[in-house]
Amino acid sequence: MGGPEIEHLIGLLAKLPGLGPRSARRVALRLLQQPEARMLPLATALQDAARATRSCSLCGNLDSHDPCTICADPERDAALVCVVETVGDLWALERAGGYRGRYHVLGGTLSALGGTGPEDLNLAPLFRRLEQGGVSEVILALSATVDGATTAHFLADRLAGSGVAVTRLAQGVPIGGALDVLDDGTLAAAVRARRPA
Ligand SMILES: [Zn+2]
Repeated sequence: MGGPEIEHLIGLLAKLPGLGPRSARRVALRLLQQPEARMLPLATALQDAARATRSCSLCGNLDSHDPCTICADPERDAALVCVVETVGDLWALERAGGYRGRYHVLGGTLSALGGTGPEDLNLAPLFRRLEQGGVSEVILALSATVDGATTAHFLADRLAGSGVAVTRLAQGVPIGGALDVLDDGTLAAAVRARRPA
């Protein structure tokens, strides 16, 4: 169907998250129908982004600058460091707004089953930053999973006695959420995390 170039394109698109072979064919067709308007600008954008993007040596964020735009922003509170698993989590928190500190991207979680140990995570730059001083609080924004909890315990242990406050995200009732549709674990966590009204 359409020759090897088109098959290759569809094969690459089908590997992207959220696209299977069927949607990859649809995307390829849409691009091919407007090569000048859609396809070549996309090709240029892909090439530019691939060449320009690097991992921030301070926090692990992806940016065209190192240190990244967030680390270099003097308006952001350097005393707060929010630890996340992935750059996607960092982006989610930025989209949500309301946080004006800095970040640290671990690149995953500890996992006994997956064989991920502390040496596999981006930990050294975090500990270096904490040793340099000036950080008063580390916020653990990790998944509410067994591996996320293991990683949170590990970090809380490592930071105990360092003088840095270690906090984690609250768990509870989502905005706009009705109680009777929540799963039992979330509802129980919300009761435990209750606060003065
Ligand atoms: Zn950074």
